[in-house]
Amino acid sequence: MPEFYYQIKGRRPPEYEGDSPWAWPPVFSGLVTAPDRKAAKAQIDEEYGRTFPQRVLAKDLEQHAYLLRIEEVDPSNDYILRRFRESSCRECGSTFRLIDKYNDFHADYRGADYCSYRCSVDGKAREVQEFRLTNEGKLPPVIYQIRQKSSGMAYVGQTTQPFTLRWWQHLTVPTGCKFHKAIHASHPTDWEYSILEVIVIPDDCKDRAAYITQRESHWIAALNSIEQGFNTARPAGFNPSTNDLFSAAPAADEMSAQVGEPV
Ligand SMILES: [Zn+2]
Repeated sequence: MPEFYYQIKGRRPPEYEGDSPWAWPPVFSGLVTAPDRKAAKAQIDEEYGRTFPQRVLAKDLEQHAYLLRIEEVDPSNDYILRRFRESSCRECGSTFRLIDKYNDFHADYRGADYCSYRCSVDGKAREVQEFRLTNEGKLPPVIYQIRQKSSGMAYVGQTTQPFTLRWWQHLTVPTGCKFHKAIHASHPTDWEYSILEVIVIPDDCKDRAAYITQRESHWIAALNSIEQGFNTARPAGFNPSTNDLFSAAPAADEMSAQVGEPV
């Protein structure tokens, strides 16, 4: 069934500057699922117990405090739909939805990477620090293993972040991949986290990311962790060498396909 993105806009108070008679940001933004646009509108009117106009003529502005905008969202429109998915704060790991921040007038940070202004400040400071340590060779990339004791199955990953942070992210980011399902279906005492290799990049290495991925592939093969573990096969056409080593942690929905993706 199609999804409809809607915005309820409030009339702009005369003391606020602007060309539009409607204030920005909208009072509320949401998503409804309905067979068609008309049914979507009925659902929204029902929810708020009022009939919203979808257009208001200039001469009628006085009588209308709100305006409703509805648009059908194509399932491929990630720009809109990702606002409604849970994502994980890169600093503290807590989950949030962007749309809830947009709808909260008191939200102090509306960016996609962090839950709050405080986490954004802490996170950016930590990234600068890590970047510096990495450049000085004090925080080398590692290949890690997360092993389930009861089954003997392992997940192999690479990271340039402090490896305990990756463990925390795996624990707190809920995705549908088999590894995260297994984590959530068991007790933390069933898991152990270890470093398989601290990577020393050879001096003549031209592609650092590809080298790290090559070491990761070596361990995935050695532990057979795709067939008998929690790794998933690398997506076809994925070229890890184009990845920026210091790029953002993947969004929750990307994590299941993260073999070869240094984060
Ligand atoms: Zn946070």
